Amino acid sequence: MNIALIAHDKKKNDMVHFCMKHTDTLKKHTLMATGTTGALVKKTTGLPVHCYKSGPLGGDQEIGAKVANGEVDMIIFFRDPLTAQPHEPDVSALFRLSDVYEIPLASNFKTAELFFKSLDLAKDHR
Ligand code: PGA
Repeated sequence: MNIALIAHDKKKNDMVHFCMKHTDTLKKHTLMATGTTGALVKKTTGLPVHCYKSGPLGGDQEIGAKVANGEVDMIIFFRDPLTAQPHEPDVSALFRLSDVYEIPLASNFKTAELFFKSLDLAKDHR
C-alpha cells in the first residue's frame, strides 16, 4: 500500500511514537509524507520515506494530487484540533479528497491503531 504520513507540529511526537511502534508493518509499505514529518520519521525509524514539501508550503496539496491520481491507499494525518493552522484550507482540501476517493484517513493515534490492527489481521489471514 501507499501510505501518506502527516502530523501537525504538536502531534509530531505522536507520529514518531506510532511509526516506531509499527516499524515492522510500515516497512512492508511505500511511505510518503509532508517534509518535516517525513524527515522526522526517517531519522527516528530509518524507514524510507518520500518527502514532499512541508505542509504549510504546499505538501498537503502535493499529497492531495497523489490521492486524486489514485496513488495513495491510506492517510495517517495527526491533526492538531487546538491550534490554528495557516494552511487550514489545504488541510480541509486533503480531508475532502480523502472522502471524494474514499481513502481511509486516520486523524488521530487511536484511529491509526485500528487501521493497523486491520492491516495486521489481513496479513494473518493471507
Ligand atoms: P510538515 O507538514 O510535516 O512539513 O510539518 C505537516 C502539516 O502541517 O501539514
